[in-house]
Amino acid sequence: MTRFKRAERIRELPPYLFAEIDRLRKQVAEQGVDLIDFGIGDPDLPTPPGIVSRAAQAVSRPGHHRYPSYEGMLEFRQAAAAWMERRFGVDIDPQTEVISLIGSKEGLAHLPLAYINPGDLSLVPSPSYPVYSTATLFAGGESFFLPLLKENQFLPDLSVVPEEVRKRAKLLFINYPNNPTTGVADGRFFERVVDFARSNDLIVCHDAAYCEVYYDGKKPPSFLQVPGAKDVGVEFHSLSKTFNMTGWRIGFVCGNAEVVEALGKVKTNIDSGVFQAIQEVAAYALANEDDSAQRMRQVYQQRRDILQQGIKQAGLEMETPSATFYLWVSIPPGSSSAEFATHLLEKTGIVATPGNGFGQAGEGYIRLSLTVTTERVKEAAERISRLSF
Ligand code: PMP
Repeated sequence: MTRFKRAERIRELPPYLFAEIDRLRKQVAEQGVDLIDFGIGDPDLPTPPGIVSRAAQAVSRPGHHRYPSYEGMLEFRQAAAAWMERRFGVDIDPQTEVISLIGSKEGLAHLPLAYINPGDLSLVPSPSYPVYSTATLFAGGESFFLPLLKENQFLPDLSVVPEEVRKRAKLLFINYPNNPTTGVADGRFFERVVDFARSNDLIVCHDAAYCEVYYDGKKPPSFLQVPGAKDVGVEFHSLSKTFNMTGWRIGFVCGNAEVVEALGKVKTNIDSGVFQAIQEVAAYALANEDDSAQRMRQVYQQRRDILQQGIKQAGLEMETPSATFYLWVSIPPGSSSAEFATHLLEKTGIVATPGNGFGQAGEGYIRLSLTVTTERVKEAAERISRLSF
């Protein structure tokens, strides 16, 4: 019981589905079991040293100690635009088509406030990163969930969205490379998304937080590469995963100028931007640290291969991810995701996230995050391989 009655928007939040696994994790740890935690997607690798030393200099500049501009320093916006051009061949105007974010989560969470009125809908994938639906809820709207199924390569089937839903929908969230399914979209899917957005007059919000965590040289495309994409949407980028900078809190949104401006309007009333020293460092990283991102990919790829081998030896099924640092593993028939995660924890000390924690269509899977040291990944692979399903 709380003394002060909370607002409906807080009380309406879906129940915390990881509560049971958290309780068990504590209980198992107290019994002295050596836990290996694949639950949380937060890189264990440090920020590359070139970025850290640049930050030490940037922090000492008094010019950075004052309030930042709301839209972000021009130097940072130019670096983001130059990176979009170099990486994807996408043309972004640094003055009007990009603003800084306090991590991509912040932008994703605030965008619905610019467009969603009570009664409006967001189209949200299931399973997905929970922010899309909670931000919609906070803005007074509702989410209509689009299942991501294995037989559709974890892409939503837009053709089945009912007419009355299309009429009420203002936003369409998509996320590729995808957390948690590890699905990757191609240009043809993005073309269908542009057509769908055009004919239904809605805004596409593409979350590209994992676009630099890819394997075997298969670079995921940008949504904005597709002709007409900039007319209907924006893309959210993050430095968190690309440069192991989750704690620094910096990202950007780019694309449709009208949408970028509307999000900026919300932000000017809520936050005061990103510490300029961090923007300076982020601009440097975007221009100079491709090699560090490449080294990071190699580390995750090695971990992916080691853990996947253990999983396959145990008789479990999964697609080999070509991007993201997650494994999305099918569980054997006969148990729920939560039951299977519990079983795995009790038998091996391995913590995994039950797939239904990301939405109903995640039932039948567990997610493992490759953000623990390679030594521990080896240990985990060995423990799993001794199981048999
Ligand atoms: N999108 C997805 C799909 C994520 O998984 C995350 C973080 N786990 C984010 C966005 C947010 O990243 P950040 O705010 O650090 O940029």
